[in-house]
Amino acid sequence: MRDKRYDLLFEPVEIGPVTAKNRFYQVPHCTGLGRLRPHMLAALRGIKAEGGWGVVCTEYCSIHPTSDDLPHPNASLWNNDDIKDHALMTEAVHRHGALAGVELWVGGASTANLYTREVSMDVVSMPNLQGHPYQSRTMDKSDIRELRRWHRNAALRAKEAGFDVVYVYATHGYLLSNFLSACTNTRSDEYGGSMENRARLLRELIEDTKEAVGDRCAVAVRYSVGGDDGEDPSLTDERRDRLEMLAELPDLWDININDYNHEMGVSRFVKEGSLEEHMSFVKSVTTKPVVTVGRFTSPDTMASQVKRGVVDFIGAARPSIADPFLPRKIEEGRLDEIRECIGCNICYTGDGLGVPIRCTQNPAIGEEWRRGWHPEFIAKKGSESSVLVVGAGPAGLEAARALGQRGYLVTLAEATRQLGGRVARESTLPGLSEWLRVRDYRLQQFDTMPNVEVFLESDLSVDDVLEWPEHRNHPVEADHVVIATGATWRADGFGRNHPQPLTTLSQSATILTPDDVMAGRLPDGPTVIFDDDSFYMGGVIAERVRLENVPVTVVTPEDVVSAWCEYTSERYQVQKHLLELGIEIKTTHRLLAYDGREVTICCIHTGRQQSIEADALIMVTARSPRDELYQALKQRIESGAQTPFSSLRRIGDCDAPAIIASAVYAGHRYAREFDTEPDPDVPLRFE
Ligand code: ADP
Ligand code: SF4
Repeated sequence: MRDKRYDLLFEPVEIGPVTAKNRFYQVPHCTGLGRLRPHMLAALRGIKAEGGWGVVCTEYCSIHPTSDDLPHPNASLWNNDDIKDHALMTEAVHRHGALAGVELWVGGASTANLYTREVSMDVVSMPNLQGHPYQSRTMDKSDIRELRRWHRNAALRAKEAGFDVVYVYATHGYLLSNFLSACTNTRSDEYGGSMENRARLLRELIEDTKEAVGDRCAVAVRYSVGGDDGEDPSLTDERRDRLEMLAELPDLWDININDYNHEMGVSRFVKEGSLEEHMSFVKSVTTKPVVTVGRFTSPDTMASQVKRGVVDFIGAARPSIADPFLPRKIEEGRLDEIRECIGCNICYTGDGLGVPIRCTQNPAIGEEWRRGWHPEFIAKKGSESSVLVVGAGPAGLEAARALGQRGYLVTLAEATRQLGGRVARESTLPGLSEWLRVRDYRLQQFDTMPNVEVFLESDLSVDDVLEWPEHRNHPVEADHVVIATGATWRADGFGRNHPQPLTTLSQSATILTPDDVMAGRLPDGPTVIFDDDSFYMGGVIAERVRLENVPVTVVTPEDVVSAWCEYTSERYQVQKHLLELGIEIKTTHRLLAYDGREVTICCIHTGRQQSIEADALIMVTARSPRDELYQALKQRIESGAQTPFSSLRRIGDCDAPAIIASAVYAGHRYAREFDTEPDPDVPLRFE
């Protein structure tokens, strides 16, 4: 039963002509699905509604081919054909008593329309804001009239598709925010100049939408209040004045701040509820319901936000991805079962890469339709088999958890004294403490599973596995063995830029890896970090070493430090943070040699060499799968020797080192497919 403290989260809230059954509001968020994959999208949103979200929105939805964001997969309501795709989603959402929302979107100079090849239009002619070599056309009066007609038509289609909440999207650097801003709006007609004039188009679109669909649909506005790092205070003041001016016009305010990298910041830099200080004034200037986000996973924080009058709705994108059943779990008093978001932003990478969403905590996200995976339910066991899982990193933990949920007898053996593998180790690095939630969620589940037995300090050899019952004085033989022994960082320079180990590294030099640093082996003098991996690890290791007060230089062959962090929207924060810590950054250089005194690097363009004095070199390059156990067992099987188990598999980093989400996915997939015979010739469904 739910705790009384959370009752207020389950109160219904009116939004114009519609009523949300509770205060849980899944704000629009991208999924890498959009118009390309409507069935996957509908199934994903439907699961959120099933999980108890009172409002479930789709992603940014283009009103016209002049706003096309491919390769970022946006949704669209360009014509009547699009209606049926959205109806799949609204039906799936309505089936569970939730409201369906759609964020009508006009890209302006942020979109280059690479797919439709239409000319972008914006408040003035300006270079494409995503860096493409295109420039927008200045909208004239007839363009504005056309835009209003397209927006109205899209709203009518949204209504026909069954949406209950229709957005006017006035933030995130898209067309309307460019009209609103005194920085970008330099027009001299009635759409430029004064604050009122710059807000004219927004006002018109709100009024048009209300007039077109307001009888049955609520009209929401997504709006930035600003106030974040580096914003000129006069701009922030104007954002607030403008909100006050328009306060009663829409039926709901969906509030964020201006800096997208903060609004959806990674947990390394941004903690739960961080928008409150910027937006807490909103409810004092409007009587309309207010929603904002804040990576809320704690029901106490949520209840406090409502109680203190900061918001009416608990907005969520990431917490609803990591756990689509978050509201239901709070409602049913199952707080221990909440799968908390870790704030890693892997879910956002699909949008940048143009591929379906994935999540570190929730391996089922995006797989609801094409694999038929439900985040909470899984088929009961298909036999009385028992499974030995070797290694308790994310892959082994998730395999054991999901096999345990299916009802199998599971033994999980871990070499060390602690569970969690790489997440336990990486969460000790600066800013990454929340990553431990990957382990903790699974351990909490084990507490409810008498069929899962965990052995620590069990560094299994081939013989240990072959003689498992005797080895552990264990009553049960394992019918199946799955190896999840992870990977180790390499120290020999091998990586993307060096397809062979370097032969120019002195044997006596101090050459470390992230594994050494995480184990507490830290350099005590000037250090060079060669980051050929380019995701978060190089930057985090640099920060950790810098805390020892030694000079640190990061060398990367990329144009920027932590280049892949572009996709997790933290690249700028990483760069800024490292510079503020006094870490030297040397881009477009690769490693040539280290003699124990000097690290020699060269420019990837010119080959020009230079040296950096260093007491230690840390390699963040590549990892070696820790697969010796798997290979040795496989060899036994192939040599015809008798084994007590009938199948042997490897999963996670010991199969192929990758991101944590891939290890969790591999563990989950192993458990899902266990005792089934997937037909490799039947392709996945990809719509
Ligand atoms: P993944 O990301 O694939 O889950 P990790 O490196 O996080 O991989 O975890 C692998 C885990 O396996 C580590 O906790 C490690 O201690 C454990 N391990 C490695 N070799 C053995 C072994 N022979 N027996 C038991 N556990 C092992
Ligand atoms: Fe949270 Fe990471 Fe999952 Fe995104 S991928 S929802 S940030 S745990």
